[in-house]
Amino acid sequence: MRLVALLFVTLLCLGATPAEASSTRYLIKNRRIEPNQPLAVALQAAELPPEQVQAVINALEGVFDFTKSRVGDQFRLVIRDGELDFFDYRQSAMDEWQVRRDGDKYVGSKRAIEVEKQVSLVSLEIENSLYEAALSAGEDPLIGMVLADVFAWDIDFYRDVRKGDRARALVEKFLAKGRLLRYGEVLAATYEGEAVGTKRVFRYEMPDGRASFFQEDGSSARKAFLKSPLKYAHVTSRFGSRFHPVLKYVKAHNGVDYAAGVGTPVWAVADGTVTVAHNTGAGGNTVCLRHTNGFETCYLHLSRFGAGVRKGARVSQKQVIAYSGNTGRSTGPHLHYALKRHGNYVNPLNQNFPRTEPLPKSLMEDFVASVAPLAEQLDAVSVASVAAPTPSHP
Ligand SMILES: [Zn+2]
Repeated sequence: MRLVALLFVTLLCLGATPAEASSTRYLIKNRRIEPNQPLAVALQAAELPPEQVQAVINALEGVFDFTKSRVGDQFRLVIRDGELDFFDYRQSAMDEWQVRRDGDKYVGSKRAIEVEKQVSLVSLEIENSLYEAALSAGEDPLIGMVLADVFAWDIDFYRDVRKGDRARALVEKFLAKGRLLRYGEVLAATYEGEAVGTKRVFRYEMPDGRASFFQEDGSSARKAFLKSPLKYAHVTSRFGSRFHPVLKYVKAHNGVDYAAGVGTPVWAVADGTVTVAHNTGAGGNTVCLRHTNGFETCYLHLSRFGAGVRKGARVSQKQVIAYSGNTGRSTGPHLHYALKRHGNYVNPLNQNFPRTEPLPKSLMEDFVASVAPLAEQLDAVSVASVAAPTPSHP
C-alpha cells in the first residue's frame, strides 16, 4: 500500500523540477480514440472536466477537421495543478495538432513537422528473405516493395529471389525527427541475382518533366508486360517455409500457379481492356484482360475484384485489378495466371517481351552525364555496408 502511494507521488511529479515539486503537480494521460468515440467523448472518458473539454473543442475549431478523427488516433493530456495545460493529438508522424494554454485561454494549432529529404544508399544482402534483409540493414521492410516496383519488368520477386542475392539502391528518404516517414523515388538501383543475373536501372527525367527508368545503355527498363502478375506485398515470406510462394507450371493446366495468401494484390501485367470480371464456376472469381498484339491474360480463383474492374473497363499496367483467393475449383489459396496469344495458351514464363521505347539518341549525352555519378555512388563501398549489420526485429 505504501509502495503504491509512493509511485503515485512520483508520477505526479514527473516533469516538475525538484524545487517546484512541492507546489506544481503534473498528470499526464495518454489515450487512444475508441470505436464510435468522437473526440469530445474521448476527452470526457479521460476525466477532463466538461468546461475544459469544451475549451479544447473550441480551440481546435477550424484547425482540426473533427470528421477525420479515427479509431486508434493517440492523444495526450498534460494536466498541471488540476487544470489542462497542454493537449496534443497525433494521427501519424506527419499529422499532429496541439492545444496550449495561453493565460486564461486555449490556442489550437496544427503542429509543423519538419520533413527532411535525403538520398541514401540502401544495400541488402538476402539470406532468408527480402523482408529480413531489409531489417538487418536497418531499413523498413517497405523497401522491398520499392525495389519490386522498379524491377517489375525483369524480376518476379515471388519466384526469382535466391539466397545470396544482393540489391543496392540510391533512394530518397523522407525523415521527420530522424525517423523514416516513407521512401521517395529510386534514383538508381542494381540487383545481382542467381536466377536473374544483374539488372540495373536509372531514373531519368525527360525534358518534358516526365521521369522513366532506363538501363545504363539507354534502353528502357520497362516492357509491355510485367514479369509477375502478383504485386510484391508478402514481405514476410521465407525460403523453405510453407508460406513461401511455390511455383508450378503444368502444361495441361494452361497456366502458372502462384501459391499466395488470400488477399495478395494482383496487378494488370499490361495495359488492356477487361473482357471478364465475374465468377466463372471452376475458375472462381476471374478477371481476363485483352491487350495489344493478340495477347490476353486471365487471373483465376480471386477473392475479390479491384475498384472499377468490370467488363469493358480500361486498366493500366501495375493497376491492382483484384486480390488472390481460393474461389472455384481450387485446392488452396493460389493465383492461377494464364496467357493467351491469338486464342492459344502460351507459357508466360517463356515469353521474351520487348522493351518499350529506348531513350531518344538526342538525349543520350545528357543521360550518360547524369547517370555516371549515380552509378559511381551505387558501386561505392559504403561504410554502412562494411560495418556489421545490427538486426532490429520489431
Ligand atoms: Zn491453376
